[in-house]
Amino acid sequence: MGRIVALGENAPGLKIGQRVGIGWNSSSCMHCHTCLDGDQHLCVNAGRTIIGRHGAFANRVRVHWVWAIPVPDALESSAVGSLLCGGITVFYPLLHFGIKPTQRVGVVGIGGLSHIALKFLRAWGCEVTAFSSSESKHAEALQLGAHRVVSSRDKAACILSVRRLSQCHWYRFA
Ligand SMILES: [Zn+2]
Repeated sequence: MGRIVALGENAPGLKIGQRVGIGWNSSSCMHCHTCLDGDQHLCVNAGRTIIGRHGAFANRVRVHWVWAIPVPDALESSAVGSLLCGGITVFYPLLHFGIKPTQRVGVVGIGGLSHIALKFLRAWGCEVTAFSSSESKHAEALQLGAHRVVSSRDKAACILSVRRLSQCHWYRFA
């Protein structure tokens, strides 16, 4: 999160002093098939914000204007920061697979990314099942938005629960 201190000649829609956020990517080629299809985050030539640079420890970061996301002043940086990385990571599959609010969706493994996924899916209106091998995370999953939690160590319960899901796409977060 930060404010723009310099702009290139071809950076439309941004202003000096504007508050912006940057996620995992800081550039993409903007001319490959993937970029032109609107999937710039999957560009094989994408520049990474924290790899080979100082990342979040830098005082200033140079990015392609597409990757400087305008952020309203009213939003807390601590709330927005997680959306720029983990948030978009779990939001993209919802768009990619055309998840509708009427669908039953399962989230496997309750960690940092899935915390956000549970919140998004619940807010979107889906019926949400969380799968976790850890009993200690069941209450947390329910609090974050899951309608039910299934132990991933219980094979029979998993099979029954997966059959209830609207579609079955496995989207593995690296
Ligand atoms: Zn590209």
